[in-house]
Amino acid sequence: MNRRLGMRLSRLEEAAPKPSETPWCRHHGPACQMGAEPLSDLYVLIIEAKRSVGQPVPPLDEHVPMTAAERIRYEQEVTGLIAEKKAENDAAMAELRGEVL
Ligand SMILES: [Zn+2]
Repeated sequence: MNRRLGMRLSRLEEAAPKPSETPWCRHHGPACQMGAEPLSDLYVLIIEAKRSVGQPVPPLDEHVPMTAAERIRYEQEVTGLIAEKKAENDAAMAELRGEVL
């Protein structure tokens, strides 16, 4: 098995729910702890703003456990978004350093 594939597999294993762990919510990811934790004020404001302009939004008072496949997909999306933003930040930092030197 090549190193890259091994790293991907270990990330997927990390993302898969552990039997003892609270499942993640289909609507709110890990943030709500399936309704045990209040959603952040910022999150609620964003949802209400999106609703006010007619965008589809998840319910704030309903918590549905993700399936294992949904959780893996969620982790992949978050990992991809973080990598995308990190690349943008790295490019911006390189540009700034180039201007300073
Ligand atoms: Zn939830």
